[in-house]
Amino acid sequence: MQSASQSVLRSPTPFHLQVMIELPATFSDDLRTKYDTALKDHHLVFNGDSAVHETIESKLEDADMTFHLTELKSLEKRPENGSISDNPFAKPEPELTLLTDYGVNGEFKLVLNKFPVVPYHFMLITNDFVSQNTPLSPKELLATYKILQVLEEGGGDENWFAFYNCGPMSGASQPHKHIQFMSLPEGYTPFTELLARSSDPFIPDQTKEPLQNSHLPFAHFLARLPLNPRETTEEILAMTFVALLQRTLSVLRAHDAEHISYNFCATTKYMMLVPRSKSKHDSLGVNSCGMMGLVLCKNEAVVTMVKLTGFENILKDVGYPNTSGKALDEYCY
Ligand code: AMP
Ligand code: AMP
Repeated sequence: MQSASQSVLRSPTPFHLQVMIELPATFSDDLRTKYDTALKDHHLVFNGDSAVHETIESKLEDADMTFHLTELKSLEKRPENGSISDNPFAKPEPELTLLTDYGVNGEFKLVLNKFPVVPYHFMLITNDFVSQNTPLSPKELLATYKILQVLEEGGGDENWFAFYNCGPMSGASQPHKHIQFMSLPEGYTPFTELLARSSDPFIPDQTKEPLQNSHLPFAHFLARLPLNPRETTEEILAMTFVALLQRTLSVLRAHDAEHISYNFCATTKYMMLVPRSKSKHDSLGVNSCGMMGLVLCKNEAVVTMVKLTGFENILKDVGYPNTSGKALDEYCY
């Protein structure tokens, strides 16, 4: 397991190269135009119109937690898992491709999600095949941050977040490396945002503990990013990711996990990692969106099950028990 945390610590990109990673200022407008055209010409399938949304409250000890539930019957028609030989990201459709040769070395593409549940959902995909089981590299973290920044500056009302489902139990369906960008439901504030607001920016060294809401039953490690975007360098992003990955690997090791699986969620304000034990609770698949408190149900029976069980207990079942209050050396990797 050590190689996973070590391989992420590659040398930082020299400053003069970072300017090549700036997206055009028109990116948000280009994204809307490309999506609207692809939708009109039936190159993508949006079924969100038939979705029923609901806010659900969980009563926790000393705290309430709000989750956002979406019931979407057309989900049952989404494609099955991809494979290396049958890989839709090897040659993404031009009608869905927003940008080719993006990144410091032109190593990424930006591609619209063909089966979005939320409009304008898109992905950063590596040009060459890279496994979805690998940790995010400093360049991938910087590209993710830059994309989130330009989306925020794009002037829309959306609250964007990025996510990465890493490893076999993370809820990913495609093996080719992809980081996704989606907006939160209007008016919904995830627990992650509240947790990030409760603290000063994280200092990534061995002595500092990331944030974890002790009222939630599952392990999650969150770090607030610097308040000044200029301080959010590739190096800070990489060091923060490694600090969170270290806690994540410690939890996996403490539970004798035979795989490295976790969810990564980020905005321009914070980054969070959540170790995963399994990809599903009964028939309910959970990925990083679930860790942002978004519950996506295929039918009424699943909705009922989620309400009876409590979504926070489902997240514990697909993750691991909360470790807050434990000293790092009790579970340190
Ligand atoms: P995940 O399930 O988290 O691994 O994300 C993979 C995403 O790729 C899913 O949300 C699918 O909707 C999306 N997808 C599947 N096939 C294609 C395709 N041919 N082009 C673009 N996106 C796709
Ligand atoms: P599956 O059940 O395998 O199709 O996976 C659906 C996944 O999407 C679940 O793991 C959810 O965590 C996640 N999800 C939840 N809400 C949303 C949403 N609004 N849009 C896209 N995915 C979501």
